[in-house]
Amino acid sequence: MPVFLECQRCTACCRWPGQVKLADAEISRLAAFKGLSEHEFIQQFTRLRPDRRGLALEEKPGGECVFLDGNDCAVQPVKPQQCRDFPNLWTTPEAVERCRAIRREVDESEYQRLIAKARTLSR
Ligand code: SF4
Ligand code: SF4
Repeated sequence: MPVFLECQRCTACCRWPGQVKLADAEISRLAAFKGLSEHEFIQQFTRLRPDRRGLALEEKPGGECVFLDGNDCAVQPVKPQQCRDFPNLWTTPEAVERCRAIRREVDESEYQRLIAKARTLSR
């Protein structure tokens, strides 16, 4: 049976080192959500990725995501795909150890429903 990892919203994955990559459409959505022009959004909330192939979300001095607000994501309705796909559609060995998502064995149709819901905006 497929295993769906049910996020417990502990926000650990918003705090550990890494980069949240941004596609162009995501920058447009995030900028609109913040009431900023894309240029303003890029200046305030993004940084060049180390491979210089695009932008990633800026980090706060402690290394947490610039949009982590207490225990909430300040851009939850439009958060980047990378955030919505974790931990079910991508993960790392370190993340597996740190993530507190609960493993749920579900049938295939329920798994597909849950994945689609997790990937959808404004959930
Ligand atoms: S995906 Fe895992 S680490 Fe991130 S908030 Fe959910 S339970 Fe916590
Ligand atoms: S955008 Fe939101 S969900 Fe994604 S890392 Fe930042 S705070 Fe976490």
